[in-house]
Amino acid sequence: MEKKTEQYDVVIIGGGAAGLTAAIYCGRARLKTLVIEKALVGGLATYTNEIENYPGFPEGSTGLGLMELFHKQAKKFGVKFKLTDVRAVQLEGDTKVVETFRTNYECRSVIIASGGKPRLTGAPGEDKFLYDKGISFCATCDAAANTGKTVMVIGSGDAAIEEGMFLTKFASKVIVSVMHEEGKMDCNEIAREEALANPKMEFIWNTLPEEFRGDEEHLHSVALKNLKTSEIIDVPVDTCFLFIGYVPNTEIFKGIIDMNRSGYVLTNEKMETNMPGVFAAGDVRDKFLKQVATAVGDGAIAGYAAEKYLAESEIFENQIMDPSLPGLVYIWNAVETASRGLLPVIEEFEQEHGRSVKVTKVDIYKSAGIANRLGITTVPSVAFIKDGKLAGVLTEDITKEALKAAL
Ligand SMILES: Cc1cc2nc3c(=O)[nH]c(=O)nc-3n(C[C@H](O)[C@H](O)[C@H](O)COP(=O)(O)OP(=O)(O)OC[C@H]3O[C@@H](n4cnc5c(N)ncnc54)[C@H](O)[C@@H]3O)c2cc1C
Repeated sequence: MEKKTEQYDVVIIGGGAAGLTAAIYCGRARLKTLVIEKALVGGLATYTNEIENYPGFPEGSTGLGLMELFHKQAKKFGVKFKLTDVRAVQLEGDTKVVETFRTNYECRSVIIASGGKPRLTGAPGEDKFLYDKGISFCATCDAAANTGKTVMVIGSGDAAIEEGMFLTKFASKVIVSVMHEEGKMDCNEIAREEALANPKMEFIWNTLPEEFRGDEEHLHSVALKNLKTSEIIDVPVDTCFLFIGYVPNTEIFKGIIDMNRSGYVLTNEKMETNMPGVFAAGDVRDKFLKQVATAVGDGAIAGYAAEKYLAESEIFENQIMDPSLPGLVYIWNAVETASRGLLPVIEEFEQEHGRSVKVTKVDIYKSAGIANRLGITTVPSVAFIKDGKLAGVLTEDITKEALKAAL
C-alpha cells in the first residue's frame, strides 16, 4: 500500500493534558498543528473520576470532563486530530517525519507528549479492575475516596511507602504487600522506619499478588502468594494501589532521543530534547511531579518553544542565510553593557550600507537559537554571511572599518 504524505508545521504525538496544551499554544500561534492520539483524546487523566487538585475547578472535575474542555479549546484554534498509533519517527534534519500505518506526516517540529503507563503486576484479573474499578496508581488522586476503608499497597520502594503513609491519613488500614523478607524494603531508611512505626500500616512479607478478585463492578480482594511457602492468602480490600514503577511510552524514540536509564526523555527547561526542533512535555519527561497541572505547564512551554523554533528557522533560512546579499549578523545581549555599547556602531553601519548588506540583530537575551545555529557562543560578536554560508566571525575590535573590511 502506497502511503499518503501530509504536511504540518507541528506534529504532537499524544493527546493527553500535555499534548492538548501544546496544541492550544501552537494552534493559537496559527501554526498548522496535528495531534496524533492512539487511544483516547485526553490521555491518562480521562481514567480518573475526580480531579480535585487542578486549579480553577473548586468543585473538582471528572478527568474526562476536564480533558473534553482541553480538546474543545484546541479544536477552536484549528488543531487537527488523527486517532492512530505513531509507529516510527525520523527526527533528523529540518523536515521531520512522523509515521503512522497509512500516512507519513512531514513537519518542521515535533512535540513528544506520549506520557507513560503504570507498570502492572501481570497477575490474573488485573485488567478487569484497572483505574476506576479498584486498582489505582495514584494515591494523591484516590486517597480521599478511600476514607475509612481498607486499602492495599503493592511494592516497597520510596513511592510505595511514602504514598502508603499518605494513604493512612484517609484509610483506616493500609496493608502493604512486600516481596522481601520481614523488615526489608526498597525504600529509604527514614521512610522504612516511619512506616514500620505507623499503627495504621500492616505488612505482609514475602508476598506477590497472585490474583485480583471481585465482581463485574469492583475489586473485592487480592490473593497474595507467599514466595517461601507458596501459601495463598485472600486479603479483602476496597482499593489496591500498585506502586511498582512507571513505564514511559518511549519505545519508538529509543536510540534517537536522549533518555535517562528508565526511558524518560531528557529535556532542558525549554522542553528541548537533544534533537533540534523536537520537544517533549508531560509525563514522558524525566521530571519530579507527574500531574495534570505540571503536564499543562510543560505543554505550554513546548508549544511556545516550537513556535519560537519555527519563527527562528524562518528568519535563519530566508533572511540570514539568503544568498542574494552579503549578510552581517550582530549577536548581542540587551542586558550587557558591552553589547549595548556596540549597538550604535552596528546601526550606523546599517544606515550607511543597508542597501548592499543585510544586517540582522539577534538578542540572545530573548533567544540563543540563531546564535546556536551559527555556532556562536561569545557576545558581542558579528557573523558575516556570504553566498548563504558563514564566512567569518568577529569577536574583538568591532569597528565600522573592521566590518567594512570583512565584507
Ligand atoms: C488513575 C490516575 C489518576 C490520576 N489522578 C490525577 C489527579 O487527580 N490529578 C492530577 O493532576 N493528576 C492525576 N493523575 C496523573 C495525570 O493523569 C498525568 O500526570 C497526566 O495525564 C499526564 O498527561 P500527559 O499528557 O503527559 O500524558 P498522558 O495523559 O499519559 O497522555 C499521553 C497520551 O499519548 C498517547 N500515546 C502514547 N504513545 C502514542 C503513540 N505511539 N502514538 C499516538 N499516541 C500515543 C497515549 O494514548 C496517551 O493518551 C492521575 C493518573 C492516574 C493513572
